Amino acid sequence: MKLTNEIVIQKAKACGFDLVGFAAASELGDEIKRLQDWLERGYQAGMSYMEKNIDKRKDVLNVLQNARSIISLGLNYFHNENFSGNNEAGKVSRYAWGKDYHLIIREKLSLLENELKEIDETFESKSYVDTGPIMDKSWAVKSGVGWLGKHSNVINKEFGSWFFIATIITNYEFAYSSPIPDFCGKCTACLEACPTDAIVNPYVVDANKCISYLTIENKKEIPDEFKEKFDNWIFGCDICQVVCPWNIKFAQETSSEEFHSVENKELNLKDIINMGEEEFKIRFNNSPIKRAKLSGIKRNVIFLKKAED
Ligand code: SF4
Ligand code: SF4
Repeated sequence: MKLTNEIVIQKAKACGFDLVGFAAASELGDEIKRLQDWLERGYQAGMSYMEKNIDKRKDVLNVLQNARSIISLGLNYFHNENFSGNNEAGKVSRYAWGKDYHLIIREKLSLLENELKEIDETFESKSYVDTGPIMDKSWAVKSGVGWLGKHSNVINKEFGSWFFIATIITNYEFAYSSPIPDFCGKCTACLEACPTDAIVNPYVVDANKCISYLTIENKKEIPDEFKEKFDNWIFGCDICQVVCPWNIKFAQETSSEEFHSVENKELNLKDIINMGEEEFKIRFNNSPIKRAKLSGIKRNVIFLKKAED
């Protein structure tokens, strides 16, 4: 049986995805220029992997030779919980409160791809969640899943920006969605709220200044200039998304139970300082927090404590 947009949407929703869009697998132009400009300015900080595989980022035909379409998927992870406000509790970015989303989404993607292949065995695909040489945000925008907000996250009118993006590249042709307009308008709430001025221009984030980068991917010490600006974030930072009117008005509770966990919403600073490698490995084995490593999380705690001195 031939696959249609409707079948893909129905199957994707049955697998738990909230948003589905389709785009033709054409070469990216402006998006790559913006990436190169961002790299030239050194805004990738220590994320040198962003400099690699530009040919693949530019043209998905270098990833899947017979690529015809991109299916962009969004999965809402918003769970309505607040932080305690306790100074001894380091705050964790919302996406990392429970099990690693890579594991959860990978499973859903495999299920979806298998089901589509069962319907039509000529369906070929390659899929990614966050990792891989794919301009996932650009494809989400091209396929009408949302628009790129000035904080550089994709925003959807129905869900705000609290959703993960997954991308399927396929040899199959579909009817293509139209990109939706940019609804940021004159708003600058995220630029004003960012405590470290990391949104250096609308749509441009300098990772060297971003708490998300500084607390997770960063392998170096956190520069003293950011002392007292971290607002107790120990892993990631959600400030620019929290203040966004689209999230304030439209964030809605996720229907995926996997994202109801708040096990790691806050981390006790003393517990982290006293934690050994074995305990860290066991506690965060299935959590995105393990990416920062124990040494990184401890450095973050020491930095927060320094601000109190
Ligand atoms: S994540 Fe935090 S530090 Fe980074 S741009 Fe947003 S508000 Fe600024
Ligand atoms: S806070 Fe305002 S400017 Fe920033 S992403 Fe949201 S709508 Fe756009």
